[in-house]
Amino acid sequence: MRCGVCSLIFEVDWEWLRRWKEVQEACPTCGTTSDSVLCARPYIFPDDPALDDGKLRAMSWFHTSTEKDWPSSDFDPTGDLTEEFQTRAKRMLRRSGFQSMVSQQKSRALHLGTYEASVYNAYRRISDEGDEGKDFYVYRVELNPESEVRQSWVIDPGNVTGQVQVDKVCPEPIGITRYVNFHEDPGSLSLAVRPQAVKAVQQVAASSLDIDEDLLDSIIDRLREASHRPLLPREWPEEMGIEEDRSPVSAEARKTVKELVASFPVSLSDYFNRGAARCLDQDRLETWARWTISILNLVNGHSEVLEQLRSQPRRLVY
Ligand SMILES: [Zn+2]
Repeated sequence: MRCGVCSLIFEVDWEWLRRWKEVQEACPTCGTTSDSVLCARPYIFPDDPALDDGKLRAMSWFHTSTEKDWPSSDFDPTGDLTEEFQTRAKRMLRRSGFQSMVSQQKSRALHLGTYEASVYNAYRRISDEGDEGKDFYVYRVELNPESEVRQSWVIDPGNVTGQVQVDKVCPEPIGITRYVNFHEDPGSLSLAVRPQAVKAVQQVAASSLDIDEDLLDSIIDRLREASHRPLLPREWPEEMGIEEDRSPVSAEARKTVKELVASFPVSLSDYFNRGAARCLDQDRLETWARWTISILNLVNGHSEVLEQLRSQPRRLVY
């Protein structure tokens, strides 16, 4: 972090960041808190190896996606949208507005970051972008040695979803722009790149990682056992018309996930608690339990994921 008032640069952990957001922490020198306009923000240490162009190109960068052939050259941003949604969007935006939305999506910069930042992004999408229950692919990215790197770094150019037009952040002939990530792995360097800056990728699906079968059985047993319990008491009077989930299986699933992510950084655990609870299908408990463990493996089994990624065949992109 770097304080905007006294310029102090200091290192913090996830727990500190949580308290900071709740205005329970302050700059250790001048006492400025997060509700001030000039408050401390994530910052890059001047000795970060990724600030050196040569080292940056030689490093591994990461990305997570639900697409199994990312970054596909014929990327269709409407691919994930249902027919019904597209018809509604076309009606609301008129056809030309819809087409310009599609072309804007197509000219988005690609985002690469540390392994931690890429996993954080998957968890955020599970919570906020309807990707709960989907398989995730982790990509290890090799940069194109010929791509031009923009000098130094810029502040996080995107909103929280990371959508940013490539020409804005990588003005021609720049192919790679470093930015300090404010949201994912805060204070780490991430990259906004043109597709041509990606030379090759290696990929691993979360669903392909080894599953702890004992853990799987214990989760399924807990949920099955809960299905014999009575419905949870009603919290809202019926006349308020609020749809409640009174299922004891849902409650047990929420409790189970909460226990499994108890040691995770708070933003990751919040994201996962929210997304995992939403995608529970009581007729397919094993599917849900397998998915849950596979996504938790991205954190708990990170060294195994990195090792597997290194041994995967390279797919040339540009
Ligand atoms: Zn300060």
